[in-house]
Order: sequence, then C-alpha cells, then structure tokens
Amino acid sequence: MTVIHKTAQDWRVTPNLVDYEKTCATFDWAAAPNLCAEMGPGLCNIAYAAVDRHAHGPTASRTALRFVSESDGDTGLSVRGLSYGELGLLARKFTDVLRSLDVHKGDRVFTLLGRCPELYVAILGALRNGSVVSPLFSAFGPEPVATRLSIGEADVLITTKAQYRKKIAGIRDQLPSLRHVFVIDDHDDDSGAQTMGFWPRMDAAGDDAPIEPTTADDPALLHFTSGTTGTPKGALHVHGAVTMHYVTGRYALDLHEDDVYWCTADPGWVTGMSYGVIAPLLHGVTSIVDEGDFDAERWYRILESQGVTVWYTAPTAIRMLIKAGAELAAGSRFPRLRFVASVGEPLNAEAVWWGKRVLGLPIHDNWWQTETGGIMIANTPAFDIKPGSMGRPLPGVHATIVHRRDDGAVEVIDTPGVEGELALKPGWPSMFRGYLHQEERYRKTFADGLYLTGDMAKRDDDGRFWFVGRADDVIKSAGHLIGPFEVENALTDHPAVAEAAVIGVPDPTVGEVVKAFVTLKDGYQPDDALQRDLMAHARKRLGAAVAPKTIAFADSLPHTRSGKIMRRLLKARELGLPEGDTSTIETTGSASATAVTR
Ligand code: ATP
Ligand code: MG
Repeated sequence: MTVIHKTAQDWRVTPNLVDYEKTCATFDWAAAPNLCAEMGPGLCNIAYAAVDRHAHGPTASRTALRFVSESDGDTGLSVRGLSYGELGLLARKFTDVLRSLDVHKGDRVFTLLGRCPELYVAILGALRNGSVVSPLFSAFGPEPVATRLSIGEADVLITTKAQYRKKIAGIRDQLPSLRHVFVIDDHDDDSGAQTMGFWPRMDAAGDDAPIEPTTADDPALLHFTSGTTGTPKGALHVHGAVTMHYVTGRYALDLHEDDVYWCTADPGWVTGMSYGVIAPLLHGVTSIVDEGDFDAERWYRILESQGVTVWYTAPTAIRMLIKAGAELAAGSRFPRLRFVASVGEPLNAEAVWWGKRVLGLPIHDNWWQTETGGIMIANTPAFDIKPGSMGRPLPGVHATIVHRRDDGAVEVIDTPGVEGELALKPGWPSMFRGYLHQEERYRKTFADGLYLTGDMAKRDDDGRFWFVGRADDVIKSAGHLIGPFEVENALTDHPAVAEAAVIGVPDPTVGEVVKAFVTLKDGYQPDDALQRDLMAHARKRLGAAVAPKTIAFADSLPHTRSGKIMRRLLKARELGLPEGDTSTIETTGSASATAVTR
C-alpha cells in the first residue's frame, strides 16, 4: 500500500484538525459553537449565521461571493464581487418582497437559475423568511422541473424569462400551488402578468425585514437526490443543519477566514448548497462562483488568476481534467492552492496522485449523501492519505459496517477488512428528517438505531473507510461479492483509460460475470491490442475471479447531471430492460459541461 505521507512542511497554515483522536474523543455536538445565539434563546436560522451575523462586524466589507462571468472572451476573466454587507442587504429585501406577497414560514420557494447573484439572494432571503428552499438545477429539462415543482408543492419560483417560457408556461395550470413566479431578467411592469420582475420588486422593498424566529427543528431545505439508483427522492433538512455545515467546513474543508474558496458544485445539488453557499458564508471566506460551464483550460485559469486556496470539486471533473492532458495545466501555477477535496463518487487512486503531480497537492476524498446533509467521512489536511480510501469519520460522526439480517435487524461487523453496508449513528445535526411523501421508505433506512446508507464499504485496521460500491451495484459472482469500484479503480490505473464503469451481467454458471465499459484518453485507439492489454492489466491487478470477463470501449458513459456514472442504465441497456427514471441523465453525451457540477 502506497501512502501519501504528510508532514508539517506540507501545511501552508496550521490545519483546524490536528489531533484526530483527542478531538473525536472529546467532541460533543451540544458544545459546538451556536452561531445563532444572538437571535435569542432556542432560535436558529441558517441565513442568520450565514449573512445577518456578519452584517455589522468587520466581515461586512469582505467579499462574500466573487462571480466569474461566462463571457470572459480573450481579455481574461470578468469578475464582480458582492460583499457580506451587500449580500445581507439584498437578502433582507427579498425577505420583505416575499412577506409583501403573503409568503411565509414553511411555504416552499424554488429556484431555477444559473449560478448568478439572484440565486444566492433568493436562497438567503427565503431562508430568512422561514420558507423552505428547494434549488433546481438550471439544466434540467421541462419534465424533471415539473415533477419536482409538483412533488415539492412549490409556492414560489424564481427563474428567468427563457426558462419560464421553455419549462413552466405550458404546465403552469398543472401546478395549482404555484402562486408567484419571479423572473430575474424582466424589468417591465408586471400587472396582470403570469410572472413578475424580481428587480422591480426588490427596488421597491424595505431593507430591514426582521428574520423569522425559526428553531433548529424547523424545515429549511428540500433537496432532491441525484437519481443514480432510481427515482430521485426529496430529502428534507432543518435549520439546525447549520452547525454541521460550520463544523465540517472547519474540519473537512479546513476553511480559514482569509481563504479564497471554490466549490465547483451547482447549488441545485446538496454539495453546492451545503458547501457552495452555506459553509463558506459561515466561515466568512471569499467564494468563487463560476457562472460558466466546465472547460479545462478555463478552470486552470480560474484556479490561478483568482488565487484559489481551497478547492472542492468532484471525481468526474478531475477525470475530465486528466483526460484533457497535463500539458494544459503546464502553463499555470497554483502557488496559493493549499487544499483540494472531492466528493460525489469514488475517487480512484490515480486521480489522487494526478493532483499531486499536476496541482502540487493530492486530492482529498470525502464521503456523504444528500440524506446526511454534510460531510461524514473525510481525508483532512493534516493526515496521511491512502489513495482510494474515503478517509475517517469526522469528529461527532460514528460510522460502522453492518450486515442486514433477514429479520430486519443488523449485525455490526467489527472486523477490519470485512465488507458490508456503511451505517451511521444518528445524532449529527444535518441528518435529513424525511423523504417527502415517502414515510415508509424513510423508516426503512433505519435499523437498530442506525441509519443504513445503501453504500457498501469496509474499514481498515487504522480506521479508514474504503468504498466498495452501492448496495444495488455490487456484483455477485461465483460466491464472491465484487465491488465495482475496486475493478474500476484498477482499470483507471491503466494509462489509456479515462473513465471506467463496471456492472454484473447474469451468467447461468456463476450468477453474474463482470463487464466493464471504458472510455479512453485522447491519443489512444480502441483496438484489439489495447483490449488484450487492458484484460491482462486487470487480471494481474485483480486476479481472474474479480477481473472483468468483457471490456467494452465506449465513447462516453451515461452520467447523472450531478456527475455520477449511472451503472443501472448501462445494465438495463446491456440486458435490454426498461431504463427506469432517467430524469437526471446528462443528455449532451459524454461527461460534459454540467456533469461536473455536483
Ligand atoms: P439516488 O439516491 O437518487 O440514487 P445518489 O445516491 O447518487 O442518488 P446523492 O445523495 O447525490 O444521490 O449521492 C450520494 C451517493 O454518492 C453516496 O451514497 C455514494 O454512493 C456516492 N458518493 C458520494 N461521495 C462518495 C465518495 N467519496 N466515494 C464513493 N461514493 C461516493
Ligand atoms: Mg442515494
């Protein structure tokens, strides 16, 4: 096992988490900082902690959000900033706008916007109002948008004229709960219209709307899961989650107040909300918001020219940068970059090493889900990395491996190296409070006081967790359980392979056999010689029982719009079965633009 060792020389600043054992042993959620203390006893609101709290202190004049526009042309990147004070003022105004329209606590406010200033203002203003915010990814087609607005019983939507015309106008009469639609690019008088201008209302609004006195248990956010394993679920989160966002921003992302931080995830996904909007504001850092889509050259330029210090991205994005070739990065220098983390999918060992070679820093994998609301297991700056491992549970998080028994109970597996389902002991503050309209399904995720994640993993003897695969994707072959990640990890270690996805195909003799789909890096040809070479490489690394029986070359692999490989779709196509819910599929072919923005 090759380990990336860290010493104090690797730190540019002293990490927030240095003594892991001691911090874990003494950690208590009840003793975590109460960022909303000044709201009054028992009160808690995410937006209070994110912006109101900074309104009058030294942070007020600091840049909260630095937007990098899409239209950078040849002249370099065009950038505009919004200070904490300005953001707070705009959020207060939007709270006032909502109240003037009789939108109150518990009402559902949806956004369907790109990563523009209005998105952040709407989210924060609605949270201040006590409304439940549900951000929709702007590249969703009409159907996923309609389904989510309808399931979520949206009262309010903030969008653009074009989005409205394309996705909402035709189905407006099927959304009886939808009372108000704001369009951010309409400046006309809206009397009698189906939509109203966002900015005219903002201009007329008062700027001192008080914050709603919400408590930690009041609902704040409705996030839909990625739909990787089936129909997306609506997970409800509460204001109390803010403590988790703060603590994990501190320990897992190592935020310090002078950081320039870039989370590439779109706020339409939980990562983009928890760590693209909330956590950085809690820590008073400056966030980069890229309004454009993925482009390898541009991304290197942003990292360099904006002086990004902490970068949080996703494996798909990293694999796309790898595919684009190291030469592209050669012209850029990242002297200020000090920490890089990734989430959303298994991070193959090769990607961790690529970071070290090309960015000068290894990539730190971390694991969590829409349901958990915040990072659970992580590689953090002070500690050695075993590439391919997700890291260790953060302070305050208790993770374990279990086997489900037929009677519905679970057996806790204490032996290192044994695979089973990853389970968590509830108690962290951002745990979801329910799947919308799916009470039974929510209940079934718990057994014997544990939350069952649906992911298979194992723990090693120094407490690191290793992802095996989603329970639905694990392959059963000749009595072995084969985790797709192990096979994919071995394949992506081959220099020709850009991305790999592995499924089980039914076989009369052994139950299932392993089939792999691979995409190639630029400059490699999908021919017989390469196929033989890949087979030999996989057998040598994995042994004949685990190595794929078939390796197919693909131009692209199906991804969700949040960047995850949809193995269930590869399997359905392979077996000629119905494709199931494809509402979140990335439709532009390969892992492109929007696929990396989880
Ligand atoms: P759905 O629940 O609708 O099928 P989803 O599970 O992909 O979609 P998310 O909540 O966005 O929706 O993703 C969480 C899942 O992503 C985790 O349960 C896990 O399977 C995967 N994941 C996240 N981070 C990692 C990681 N670091 N390593 C491996 N897998 C990860
Ligand atoms: Mg899931």
